[in-house]
Amino acid sequence: MFFCFDIGFLEIKWVDIFDILLVGILIYNFYKLVRGTVALRVFIGFLSLYFLYLIVQATEMELLSSILGQFMGVGVIAAVVLFQDELRRFLLLIGKAPAFNSEFWNSLFGKDTANIIWNIDAIVDSTKEMARTSTGALIVISRFDDMEKYAQTGDIIDCKISKRIISSIFFKNSPLHDGAAIFYKGRIMAARCRLPLSTNEQIPASLGMRHRAAIGMSEGTSTLILIVSEETGQISIVKNGDITKNLSPQQTRQMLNEYLSAEEKEIDAVPLPN
Ligand code: ATP
Ligand code: MG
Repeated sequence: MFFCFDIGFLEIKWVDIFDILLVGILIYNFYKLVRGTVALRVFIGFLSLYFLYLIVQATEMELLSSILGQFMGVGVIAAVVLFQDELRRFLLLIGKAPAFNSEFWNSLFGKDTANIIWNIDAIVDSTKEMARTSTGALIVISRFDDMEKYAQTGDIIDCKISKRIISSIFFKNSPLHDGAAIFYKGRIMAARCRLPLSTNEQIPASLGMRHRAAIGMSEGTSTLILIVSEETGQISIVKNGDITKNLSPQQTRQMLNEYLSAEEKEIDAVPLPN
């Protein structure tokens, strides 16, 4: 009853089409991860051997078939060893999907999010100021991912987001200016944090450690990372391993708004009178 149609002697079922589609998606996503890396060549070599093995088997070439068969027998273990970095990133990609995140479900059903207020004005204004003065900054903004592990690498702050505090953190002589600040649940959670560096070899050499750390963080989490370059004063945003460079304050605000769209926003506090 699940038959779809026949091509010659082949009976193609719905489930076969679904199966091929899933394999296609898996191979495409894996290709996206290994694209531009040495792992791609290993992957192509591996696939070629596998196809050769299939041909050799179909043509019943006994000797070659048994030699390649031995190799294919340990193929899965060999693949795990050869692609350990890529497999880790691939599994992270699946695991970081919002559907697997309790914070996402909480936000969907309005649980725990009633008190979350993101002061986007303060983030944009301080970013604009830091860009003007070429003050290097790295800010991780997390809606759904638990940031405890990363916050522990630096100093816990836990205070409201304000322009003055952000500027103080990244002020060149501040003891907290090195590394990344982490904003979570509408608050400044920590500063001076160490982020994982990306191993993507396609990142241009012109981008240094700050940018590489931002890309690395976005590959393993669904966070948005804001960068102000100390060298160029440019604002960039990194999300899902992709970097958008040279943003204006308006574009920065728009991207932040889109990312934090479901949360409430608060206008910046009125400056205190002198
Ligand atoms: P810029 O354009 O601001 O110069 P860049 O991408 O060229 O940035 P570097 O000049 O190498 O990067 O910036 C070094 C700074 O990046 C360090 O002082 C540190 O604050 C930050 N940084 C480097 N590695 C990490 C990391 N793993 N996690 C967090 N911050 C990091
Ligand atoms: Mg630099």
